[in-house]
Amino acid sequence: MTTVTAAPLTPAQHGVWITEQTLPAGPAYHLAVTIRFTGALDVDRLAAAVAAVVARHPVLAGAVDEDAVALVPAGAEVTLVVRPGGSGGSGGSGGEADVADLVAAPFDLRRGPLARFTLLRTAPGEHLLCVVAHHLVFDGTSKQVLVADLATAYNGGTLPTADAPAAESIVDTAAAAGFWATRWQEPAPAQLPGLRHAVGGAAVAVPFTIGTAALAETAATLGVTHFELLIAAWHALLRRYGNGTVTTAVELSTADRAAPRIGLHVNELPVSTTPDPAQPFAAFARAVRAQLREMYPHRAVPLSHAVRLTPRAALAPLTVSYRRRAEPPAFDGVDTAVDWLVFPGAVRGTANLQLVEGPSVVEGSLHLVAGSFAAEQVAAEFQALLAAAVAAPGTAVADLALPSTADVPAVGPAPRDTVVDRFLARVAADPAAEAVVCGDRRISYGRLGAAAAGLADRLRRQGIGPGSLVGIALPRTAELLVAVLGVLETGAAYLPLDPSYPAERIAFIRDDAGAALVLTPADVPLSLSGGGDTAAVLPAADDVAYVIYTSGSTGKPKGVAVPHGALTNLVDAMRDHLGAAAGDTWLGLTSLSFDISTVELLLPLTVGARIVLVPPDRHRDAATQLRLIDGHGVTHVQATPSGWRLLLEAGLSRGDLVAVTGGEALPADLAARLAPLVRRLVNAYGPTETTVWSALADIAPDAPVTIGGPVANTTLHVLDDALRPVPDGIAGELWIGGVGVAHGYRGRGGLTADRFRPDPFGAPGARIYGTGDRVRRGPSGLEFLGRVDNQVKLRGHRIEPGEIEARLATHPAVAQAAVVLADPHGPRARLVAYVVPTGEPLDVAALREHVARTLPGYMVPAAVVTLERFPLTPNGKLDRAALPTPAEPPAAAPAVAPAAFAGTGDDTTATVTAIWQEVLRIDDIGPDEDLFDLGGHSLTITQIAVRIRKRLGVDVPLDVFFDTPTIDGVVAAIADLREAR
Ligand code: AMP
Ligand code: MG
Repeated sequence: MTTVTAAPLTPAQHGVWITEQTLPAGPAYHLAVTIRFTGALDVDRLAAAVAAVVARHPVLAGAVDEDAVALVPAGAEVTLVVRPGGSGGSGGSGGEADVADLVAAPFDLRRGPLARFTLLRTAPGEHLLCVVAHHLVFDGTSKQVLVADLATAYNGGTLPTADAPAAESIVDTAAAAGFWATRWQEPAPAQLPGLRHAVGGAAVAVPFTIGTAALAETAATLGVTHFELLIAAWHALLRRYGNGTVTTAVELSTADRAAPRIGLHVNELPVSTTPDPAQPFAAFARAVRAQLREMYPHRAVPLSHAVRLTPRAALAPLTVSYRRRAEPPAFDGVDTAVDWLVFPGAVRGTANLQLVEGPSVVEGSLHLVAGSFAAEQVAAEFQALLAAAVAAPGTAVADLALPSTADVPAVGPAPRDTVVDRFLARVAADPAAEAVVCGDRRISYGRLGAAAAGLADRLRRQGIGPGSLVGIALPRTAELLVAVLGVLETGAAYLPLDPSYPAERIAFIRDDAGAALVLTPADVPLSLSGGGDTAAVLPAADDVAYVIYTSGSTGKPKGVAVPHGALTNLVDAMRDHLGAAAGDTWLGLTSLSFDISTVELLLPLTVGARIVLVPPDRHRDAATQLRLIDGHGVTHVQATPSGWRLLLEAGLSRGDLVAVTGGEALPADLAARLAPLVRRLVNAYGPTETTVWSALADIAPDAPVTIGGPVANTTLHVLDDALRPVPDGIAGELWIGGVGVAHGYRGRGGLTADRFRPDPFGAPGARIYGTGDRVRRGPSGLEFLGRVDNQVKLRGHRIEPGEIEARLATHPAVAQAAVVLADPHGPRARLVAYVVPTGEPLDVAALREHVARTLPGYMVPAAVVTLERFPLTPNGKLDRAALPTPAEPPAAAPAVAPAAFAGTGDDTTATVTAIWQEVLRIDDIGPDEDLFDLGGHSLTITQIAVRIRKRLGVDVPLDVFFDTPTIDGVVAAIADLREAR
C-alpha cells in the first residue's frame, strides 16, 4: 500500500483547488498521456511498473483534506485497470473514444486518488495505456517523468524510493507584488477571427505542426529561445488580429531541473506586450525575451499572491503552454508511440495554445469552444506568420505575410455603353411595350422615348450638354422619368432636388452644385416629342450622370458626382445578379434623391421591363404599395429595412417577389420574417460614393445576415488604419475599389482626397473609397458591424449628426448640441437632440422649427433633451455613450376602458381613441393631439390603420394620418368614407 505523508497544499495547488471549488472547471484540469504498445506486452510487468511509479510518486495516490488544506493519502490504491478497448464510443477502433471518456471522467478530489491508469486492449497485439491525472498533482513535466519511470520499471530497473515532499521553495512574495503592481492589468477580451459567443459548445482541439529546423536556426541567430520565438510570433499574430495590448498566460516551470518529480510544479503568469506594427520582428522577439527574463525571478509566486485576483479558470482569455520532449524511452520487446497532447475535452478561457517541441517538429494544438472563432484559420495563420518571421526576421510585424483568402476579383473596364444607349435600344426594339404605370396612365417605351428626346432637344437649344448639370425638382410621376432621360440624353448630369425639402436646402444644393437650370413639373409635359432636330451628343463613360447630395458632418451637405460608366456597371450588375428581364415589373418607390432610385427606374428601362410608380406622397403608405404590388403583378421591390417592416405589417406575402433590401443594416429578426415570404431576399449594401450598391447577399431563410460579396467589377478591402488588409474574420474599415468609385465630392478637393485614395491593390490611377463602415469577412460573406464614426441611418436616410448639431448651434438659445439615434435598430428609431442652453429661453417647438427651416424632415430631432453640461471622455471629447437614454415609451399597453376617453361619447371616437392608446401606449390622448408629437411614425400609422380596418371595417388612406394627424381628424375621415359608400 502506497502512502503519502500529509503535505500542506502548495500555493499553486491551492490556486487550482480554489478554482475547482468556485468554477465548474470540468476536465480542463485533467492531464492525460497515452502510450500505444505494439507487440507482446507483458501486462503483469506493466501493472508492477505502475505500482512502482505510484510508490515513487505518492502524490498520485493523494486526496485533498479540506480542513487541513493538505494533500493526504487517498482511501483507495492506484492500480492498473485492464479493459477491452475500441468498444462503444464513436471514435474509431483505436480506443480514441475510450480515451476521451477516461479523460473526461471526473475526479473526486476529496476522496482521491488523483490519477488513474487504464490499459485498453485495442486490437490483437496492440494495447493503449491511458494515464489521467489531476493538475493538482501533475503537470507537463510530470508526463515526461511518468513515462520515463514506467519504462525503467517495466524494463526491470529499480526506481528510487518515495522522495520526501520537497520543502516549499522560498519565494519573495513582496518582491513579486512590487513587480506586478505596475505590470499587471486585467486583460481585455481577446479579438480573434470570426469571434462569436458560442455558449455550451463542446471544446475541440485543432492540431497543426511546425518544423523545428528553421525555427532553431533563426532563434540561434536572434539569440532567443524557441519558446521566446514562438511566443513572439503568437503575440505578433494577435496584434494583427487587432489586439492592441496582447496578454497571454504562460505556464512556467518551477520544477527542480536536476531531480524532476511528478507534481504540480508550474506557475501560470501573464505575458503582456504591445507590439508596434512597424517594429521588425527580430526586435520584437528580443523584447519578448527581455520581458520574460525580467519576470523569471518571480516565477515561483502565483499571481494571486502578488495582486488581487478574482478566482478564474485562466489568468487571461488566452493561454499558452510550451514544453520540450525528448524521444520517449523504449519498453523492452514492444514498440511504443506516446501521445503527449491528449485533449482534455475542455478549455480554460477563450483559447489555449499548446506547443510540444520534439526533435524535428513542434506539435501544436489550439483548444477552444467549437465555433467560438475560426481556429483552423488561426492555426494556419500562426504557421504562416511564424514561417515568414523565421525566414526574414527583419520584416515589420505588420508586414509578415499571412495567407490571403480574400480573392480580389479582376476589375474590367467600365462599360462603354450608357444607360441612355440601353434605353434607346429598348425603344427601338419594342416601342409598344409598356414602360411606366403612373396612376391611371400607362406609358409605352415609344411615348417615353419621344418625350425624353423632345426634352433633350429643348435642353440642347438652351445650351445644355456634356458637362452641364440640370436640377430635377419633380414628384415621382412619369414626367420624372422623362426629365431624367431627357437630361441624360443631352450628355448632361442630373441633380435631384426633392420638392419636399425646405426651400433653403434646395437653394443651397442648387447653388453649391452649380445647376444650370432646374426642371419643375411645368417644364416636362409628357406630350413632348422630338428627336433629331438638334445634334445628339450621347454621354461618354466618364461623363457625370448624376450628382447626389448626402449629409455632411461639418454642417453642409456634399455632392457626389457619379459617372456613366459606374452607373451602367451597376445597372448591368444588378440585372445579372437578379436575372432581371423584359417580363419583370418593378415598383418605383424611392425618391430620386436616393441613388437607389436608379435601380428602380433605369434598370427596368434598360431591359424592357415595366415600372409601377408609387404616388409621390405614398412612399410610407404600405397599404397603397401592397395594392399596387398585387394589382399589377409587381415582381421586384427594393426598399429600406424600415420600408419592408411597413410592408410586412400591412400583410405582404408574395412567394414570387424578388425583395431587395438595403440602405441600412438588415436586422436579423426582419430577415427571418421576410425571407420565407418572398422568392428571393437580397441584401444590398453600398454608399452613394461607390454607386448605389457595391455588395450583394442572397439571404436564405434561417441564414445569418451578411452583406455578401462584391458586385461586378468591384473590389472590397477590409483594412486597418494604415490601409493594410486585416485577416479574415477581423474587423476593419471597408474600402471599395473598382468601376463604381465616383469622381468625388463636387467642388470639395480636400474632402475628396481624404476619402478617395489611390488604390494600393488596383491598376495605376485606380482609387478606393473609405466607407467608414466596420466590417469583417466571415464564412458567408462580409458582415456589417457598424460605423467607425457617428454617421447614422434613419429609415434609409444617411445622416451626419454633426450637420444637425451645427444647425442647432445656430439657435441663440443653444450653446452646445449633440444628436444621436435612439433605438437604432427597431421601429422606434428616432433622433434625439441633447442641448446645453445658453440661458436664453428655449422653446422646444421653436427649436425644431428652426432646424426644419433648413434640414429635411427626417433630420429634425423627434425629441430635445436639455442638459446642464455634456458628459466628456477622459480626453475631453463628447462621450456619446454616456448621454442619458431618452425616455422610452411605456412598455405595456395600458388597461384602460376605451369609453372613458371617448371625447364625444360616440362609438367611433371611442374605438379610434382606444386604438391610438394601444398602439402609442399612452393612456391619455386628447382628440386634437398630434399623432407625431405623441411619438407616432409610419409604422404606428400602419398599425392604427390595420386595427381601424379590422374593428370598424373602414380602410382609412394613410395620407389622412399625415394631413389630419389627430383623433378628431381621423374620426371625421371615417365619417366621410362611410358616407361615400
Ligand atoms: P448611402 O450613401 O445613403 O447609400 O448610405 C451608405 C451607408 O448606408 C453605408 O455606408 C452603410 O453605412 C449603410 N448601408 C447601406 N446599405 C447597407 C446594408 N445593406 N447593410 C448595412 N448598412 C448599409
Ligand atoms: Mg446606397
